[in-house]
Amino acid sequence: MNISPWKKFYLPIGILFGFLLGIIIGFFFPLFASNLKWLGVLFLKSLKMIIVPLVMLSIINGIGKMGNLQTLGKKGFYVFLYFISTTMLSVLLGIFLTIFLGFGDIKPSITEEKVKPIQLQIVDIFLNMIPSNIFDAMSKGEILPTIVFSILLGGTMITQGEKAEEVFRIFSVLEEAIIKIVHLILWFAPIGILGLIAGKISEDSDKFLRDLFLLQYYARNVLVGLLIHGFIVLPFIYFIFLKKNPYSYIKKMGVALGTAFSTASSSASLPVTIDCVENKANIRSETAGIVLPLGATINMDGTALYEAVAAIFIAYVSNVPLDFYSMLLIFLTSTLAAIGAAGIPEAGLVTMTIVLNSVGLPLEGITLILSIDWFLDRCRTAINVLGDTIGAAIIDRID
Ligand code: ASP
Repeated sequence: MNISPWKKFYLPIGILFGFLLGIIIGFFFPLFASNLKWLGVLFLKSLKMIIVPLVMLSIINGIGKMGNLQTLGKKGFYVFLYFISTTMLSVLLGIFLTIFLGFGDIKPSITEEKVKPIQLQIVDIFLNMIPSNIFDAMSKGEILPTIVFSILLGGTMITQGEKAEEVFRIFSVLEEAIIKIVHLILWFAPIGILGLIAGKISEDSDKFLRDLFLLQYYARNVLVGLLIHGFIVLPFIYFIFLKKNPYSYIKKMGVALGTAFSTASSSASLPVTIDCVENKANIRSETAGIVLPLGATINMDGTALYEAVAAIFIAYVSNVPLDFYSMLLIFLTSTLAAIGAAGIPEAGLVTMTIVLNSVGLPLEGITLILSIDWFLDRCRTAINVLGDTIGAAIIDRID
């Protein structure tokens, strides 16, 4: 699908403009900014509206285009290899960086207890994959069960050969129509992003800045780690596999990354991510249609890195020394916690209980990092989405 030059410039420039204006209005005119919140909600709701049908159609059609279970199995294997290795690399980076940089000389104490964190077990990650009622899961916008069901449906449909062709054809028409809806929604993206950013910043910018100061070393470690992973490690992997300039690819993903930052949700950004990867970078739809929905739910490099840094930080403020075995546990459970986190705002904060439990750290530690989490969440979501898009480009190479 060709993008008109007007749209080519309108979107990146419009999003950047909406973004900057959102920050200015949010900080300097908080009252006015809170009146703009609804614009962000409207944008978010429009994106969420199409996620479930888009996920189903893109996965089923992707499998249909592959044509056989062998190709699906082979690609699936490489997708998981890419997901797990980049997630682990990211956690390792977070751990080493934190050991190297430390947490400076400010040691905040865990005092207030604002939320009672939800206890989450590792088995819940697997249980959450299978819905007891697929329509119930879809109506609640639960992406992972929708993906599992779509893979099963697409996989069994291709085993029916010619009989299924007509259904695949109808599904392709529907998918194209949904992508057209994405394009319509995107016209509204700059205003929606302005509403999201202005509304969020207006909430309590003073408290945010105070807490950011108190947690500056923790935030620095997360942000430096995310930057290194997103702009050095992932581009390097891209270059190794594709021998092409990774940064021009990342530039094409700008609108998806901007949406990820503004919505703090890999899932809500999914329609835009699919659009960027397929239509701007010309990645085949059978690859993008499968790798991206899966990636949005289970491949979260940014979240994984953040989980590890946060756990080490909570150990530091709670005066709990971490030996090699504890670090190993943090490494493994951060990987799992990132896989288990849904692609929604601050999901990583909930799955962090898995990491904290594994090394006996106080769950109340989460309340300490809560106030600045909305900001770190946006940054890690952008890196999560970046990891998915780079994965789609690499997997597309495999036939
Ligand atoms: N908000 C993140 C995402 O949607 C998940 C998280 O780390 O909280 O990718």
